[in-house]
Amino acid sequence: MTHVQKLFIKGFKSFAKPTELVFGKNFNCCIGANGSGKSNVCDALTFVLGKTSAKSMRAEKSANLIFNGGKKGSPMKEAEVSIYFSNESNEFPLSEKSIKVSRIVKSSGNSVYKINEKVRTRQQVIDLLNAARIDPDGHNIVLQGDIVKF
Ligand code: ATP
Ligand code: MG
Repeated sequence: MTHVQKLFIKGFKSFAKPTELVFGKNFNCCIGANGSGKSNVCDALTFVLGKTSAKSMRAEKSANLIFNGGKKGSPMKEAEVSIYFSNESNEFPLSEKSIKVSRIVKSSGNSVYKINEKVRTRQQVIDLLNAARIDPDGHNIVLQGDIVKF
């Protein structure tokens, strides 16, 4: 089974500055004060996996996923999130031992997807993730609010 090695976030929601989160192979836990961005980390993960509904990531529209400047800063033009997946056991049909999947959303709301830095369609990303049995709408992903809705 693959695992997330690293998450890179830049300009996504509350993460203005380029931020890298390194994950362990097993259980990972994210702690912090209310409003510090814990749920935004989960939103960032599903964003890369190809979630189309901005509302599921708690934003009115895709452009609202871009850092809005907060209280003092200036708004950014685009948001970029990348997930680095391990491919040690060839879970993905690619030769690289680590797979970088990226999504960039522009202020127009349009998204660009990349696999190992090469531009790909959303469907190509979905197909690649499917090969490793990853589904952005899988019931193993429980976002903030899901339990309340349930
Ligand atoms: P809680 O413990 O209450 O669940 P949390 O750590 O999960 O908090 P998040 O929901 O991840 O917090 O983050 C909320 C913060 O993200 C808010 O301060 C909000 O203003 C900020 N935020 C959301 N979207 C944007 C955006 N587009 N630009 C800048 N900040 C944003
Ligand atoms: Mg939260």
